[in-house]
Amino acid sequence: MRETIKKFLPERVKYNYRNFRKYRKKQQLEREYAGNEVTCNICDHQYRIFEPFKNVPNEKCTNCGSMKRHRLLFQYLNGETELFREKKEKLKLLHFAPEKAFYDIFSKRPDIEYFPCDIDPGMYKFNRNTQIYEIDITSIDFKSETFDIILCNHVLEHIIDDKKAMTELFRVMKKSGWGIFQVPIAFNREKTYEDFSKITPEERYAAFGQIDHVRWYGLDYPRRLESAGFKVHDIKYTHEFTEEEKFRFGFPEKESIYFCSKSS
Ligand SMILES: [Zn+2]
Repeated sequence: MRETIKKFLPERVKYNYRNFRKYRKKQQLEREYAGNEVTCNICDHQYRIFEPFKNVPNEKCTNCGSMKRHRLLFQYLNGETELFREKKEKLKLLHFAPEKAFYDIFSKRPDIEYFPCDIDPGMYKFNRNTQIYEIDITSIDFKSETFDIILCNHVLEHIIDDKKAMTELFRVMKKSGWGIFQVPIAFNREKTYEDFSKITPEERYAAFGQIDHVRWYGLDYPRRLESAGFKVHDIKYTHEFTEEEKFRFGFPEKESIYFCSKSS
């Protein structure tokens, strides 16, 4: 009966209803997590604790949806790079698989020329004020040496020909440019594990931990980036924070920042 009623409702009514449900859910979560024990460095909201997500405690910001890895990366971008500092010229930023929390910030900055992109821009349902470009990372449709900064986080583990993707990232980066290319790392593996005979979702889940991953990167990940020409700085950034700070800001326990440049 409910399904029948739904079928006859105009799209606009369904859209408003979905938004209303989201709003109610958010209000409920805001009450549930109210407090000031943790602080999201991206949106400045405070909570008793971050929401758990996929069995990871203290993970998701109730307000902006950021995860531990987003907050660590934001801390690095904000504290250690020129991205948010005063600059003479606009920086061209290419951002693969744009995370909403970052998209909302980058797309509003007048000093950043922002190019969010994905192989499937249609999958992004959030409100957009900047176009999301349709780009295949193994054949990037921009001229060589176009971008000052490239962000590509948790993408390469989905790409069969990651060597071609890395070569393309190198090609479109300016000589003075830099990028951050984060992937999940199996810290217990010296060598990256990939097996392209595994093609079904079940096989990939069993082998690589997620139905759409095609490999587990190991400790040799920086060497793969170097093979494409990058100078790679494997920055053990989580080491710079105390256990209390990691809890307060909801940072990962252990994660490197892979800072890649062309020249130094
Ligand atoms: Zn937040």
